[in-house]
Amino acid sequence: MPSTEYINERRAMTREQLAGRGIANKAVLRAFMNVPRHRFVPPKNQPNAYEDRPLNIGCGQTISQPYMVALMTDILSPMPSHNVLEVGAGSGYQAAILAELAHEVVTIERCPALAAQAERRLAALGYGNVRVLLGDGTAGAPGYGPFDRIVVTAGGPAVPDALKRQLRPGGRLVCPAGCRQAQRLMVIDRRGADFEEHEGVSCVFVPLIGREGWPAESAN
Ligand code: SAM
Repeated sequence: MPSTEYINERRAMTREQLAGRGIANKAVLRAFMNVPRHRFVPPKNQPNAYEDRPLNIGCGQTISQPYMVALMTDILSPMPSHNVLEVGAGSGYQAAILAELAHEVVTIERCPALAAQAERRLAALGYGNVRVLLGDGTAGAPGYGPFDRIVVTAGGPAVPDALKRQLRPGGRLVCPAGCRQAQRLMVIDRRGADFEEHEGVSCVFVPLIGREGWPAESAN
C-alpha cells in the first residue's frame, strides 16, 4: 500500500509528468506511486519533492528529475527475477524504484554521507532487497554480479568497460556518456560476448567521478 502522505502530489506527478509524457509500463508507474519520493529529500525540500525537476540532496549532489528516473527505469525494464546494479545511489530514490520491480538491487555511492543516509532511508522504508555499497561504482560490484540490468545515474566520458563486463548475456546497461556539461543516454545490450550500443536522448547529469569516470579534481 502506498503511503498516503503527499498521495495527491504523487498521483499528479505519475499521471502528468510520467504517463503524460509517454511512460506506459504499468509496473513502472505503480512503482512511482508506491515510493514516497518526499522521504528521499531533505525535510525543507519535502513540499517540492514531486515537482518536475531535480532537487539538491547535499554533498553538491541531486535527486534526478522524476521523468528522467522513470525514463531510465522504463528503458531498463527490470523484471522480478533480476539482479540490478545502480551506480550513484545519491538519495536512494532510484534504488527504491528498482527494488519495487526487481529481485535484488546493489547500489554504489562514492560520497560516504550520502551512502550512509541512503542505507538508513531504504532500511526504514523496508527495502530489504537493496544493498548500499560505498566506493567507486565505475569498477562495478564484481562480488555481486553478474547483473541483468545496470543503470548509471551520473554522466561519464564513456560507458565504463568494467560495467559492460559485469552485464549478464541478454542484459542491458543504461548510462549517460558525453562531456561534463551534457550527455547522451547510452543503451547497451549484451548479446553473448558482443555488445549492441544505441545512442538515446540528450541529458544532463552530475559528473561520474572515478577510475573510468572524470578525475575528482576537475569534476566541479
Ligand atoms: N540515483 C540518485 C537518486 O535516486 O537520488 C541520484 C544520483 S545523483 C544524480 C549522482 C550520484 O552519483 C551522486 O550522489 C554522486 O555522488 C554519485 N557518483 C558520482 N560518481 C560516482 C562513482 N564513481 N561511484 C559511485 N557514485 C558516484
